[in-house]
Amino acid sequence: MRNVLADDLAALPELLQTTRDYAVSVLKGLDERPVAVTPAPASAAPLPTDGIGTAGALAEFQQRWAPGFSGSAGPRYLGFVTGGTTPAALAGDWLTGTFDQNGSNRSGSSAAALEDETVGWLREMFGLGTAHTGAFVSGATMSNLVGLAIGREWIGQQRGVSVARQGVAALGEVPVLSGAAHSSVYKALSILGLGRDALQPVRTLPDREAADVTALAEALEALDGRPAIVVANAGTVNTVDFDDLRAILALRDRYPFWLHVDAAFGGFAALSPAHAHLVDGLAEADSVCVDLHKWLNVPYDGAVQFTRHRDLQVTVFQNAAAYLPPISGTPDFFHLTPENSRRLRALTAWFTLAAYGVSGHREIVTRAIDAAHHLGARLTTIPGVQLLAPVRLNVVCFTVPTDVTALSQAVADSGEAFLTPTVYQGKPALRAAFSNWRTTTADADRVADLIGKLLT
Ligand SMILES: *Cc1c(COP(=O)(O)O)cnc(C)c1O
Repeated sequence: MRNVLADDLAALPELLQTTRDYAVSVLKGLDERPVAVTPAPASAAPLPTDGIGTAGALAEFQQRWAPGFSGSAGPRYLGFVTGGTTPAALAGDWLTGTFDQNGSNRSGSSAAALEDETVGWLREMFGLGTAHTGAFVSGATMSNLVGLAIGREWIGQQRGVSVARQGVAALGEVPVLSGAAHSSVYKALSILGLGRDALQPVRTLPDREAADVTALAEALEALDGRPAIVVANAGTVNTVDFDDLRAILALRDRYPFWLHVDAAFGGFAALSPAHAHLVDGLAEADSVCVDLHKWLNVPYDGAVQFTRHRDLQVTVFQNAAAYLPPISGTPDFFHLTPENSRRLRALTAWFTLAAYGVSGHREIVTRAIDAAHHLGARLTTIPGVQLLAPVRLNVVCFTVPTDVTALSQAVADSGEAFLTPTVYQGKPALRAAFSNWRTTTADADRVADLIGKLLT
C-alpha cells in the first residue's frame, strides 16, 4: 500500500511551494474576495479512513472550504475590531509552525528568551515600565482572565486567604467595579468563580462610556475599607471611550483596590502622539490587557498580559511537578498562564516589530484613526445618518433611518465591506472599526459611498 506520509515527506519542498503559491494567490485576490460570506449550509464529510496526502487535502480545501472563507484579512472588514496580518507577521506565523517550539518552558531552546524580548518591546511601546512583566496568551479574553485571576489572589491576600489553595469559597464575595466593561470581563468572572453578578456597573459620565470617577469613589467608599477589583476601560468597543486612569489611580490613596486595565485595542493610543494621553497612567495599573491580533496586525491568535505582581501570578498559575524544574529565578511560562504546552505566539509579534518598528506600527495606527475620522465626516453628509458619539479613535458608531440589521446584512451581501450592528444608549446602531494595516481613506470612501447608495 502507498505510504502517503512517506510520499509527502519526499515531496515536502514541492508541497510547500504549491501551498505558498496558493497563499500568494489568496492574498493577491483579497480585493476580489467578498469581504464577508454568509455561510452556506455545509454537511460534514465522513472521517477519512485513508488519507489523500497534502496535495489532495489542499485541492479539497480549495474546492470545499476556501470559497466560503471571508476576506476579513482585507481592508474593509470593519466588524468587531479586526486586524489583518502584516507580511512580516505572516512570515513569523509560518516559522512558528515550522519550528514548532513549545513555549512552555525555558529549557533546551531560546524560544522563551525570544518571548521575553518581545514582551519587553511591547511593554516599552505601550509606555509601561520594567515593573511590569508579561506573557503571551491567545486573546484579550484570556488576558483579562489572567489579570483578574491575579487580582482575585491579591484580594485573598488582603483578607488572609490563599485562593490558590483554599478556593474561592474561602474568599467570599468580591466587589468588581467597572464603567462599561467588555463582555469578556463577565465571562472571566464566571470562569473564576467570582460570578458575573460580582460586577457592579459604575455610572458613566453623561453621554459617555467612561466611568464617572465620583461615582466610583462613592462605590468604593460604600465598601467600608473592603478591598475591591476595579476594571478600568481603555477603549470601549462601541465608542472607544477611555476611563480617566490618573483620576482612578488617585483613589488608591484612600481605598484598597486592584486596578486591572482592559486596553485590548485602546492601548495602541500610546503610539499616536495626539492620543497617547488617553492611556496616561497605564504603567501604574496592577494588570493590563492588550490584544495583538487586533491592532498589531498579527494573525489569530495573540495577546499579551502584563502585571506588576508576578509573585502572585506564580501562586495562581504554578504547575509544579516532580519531573518539572523547581521555580526559581525567572519562572517558566507554564507557571504564568492557564496553558502548559503552548504555541510560541510571540514570534509573529517579534517579526512585525522587527520588520516595521515603532514608526511602522505608529503609521498603521494613525492611518486607521484618519480613516475612521474620514468615514465619520462622510457619513454625517448622508441624510438621516447620525453619529452616536464623536470619533474618538478608530471606531465610528452611527445610526441610520432604516433597520440597522437589514443595512448591515445589505453591506455584507454587497461583498464590499462588513460592519457589525450594536446597541448604544438604547439605540440600534452600526459600528465601523478600523485596525487593518491595509486600510486607507480610499477604503473609508468606498464604505461611505456604499452606505449612501444603500440608503437611497
Ligand atoms: C476584543 C476585546 C476583548 C476580547 O478580545 P478577544 O481577543 O476576542 O479575546 C476584550 N476587551 C476589549 C475591550 C476588546 O475590544
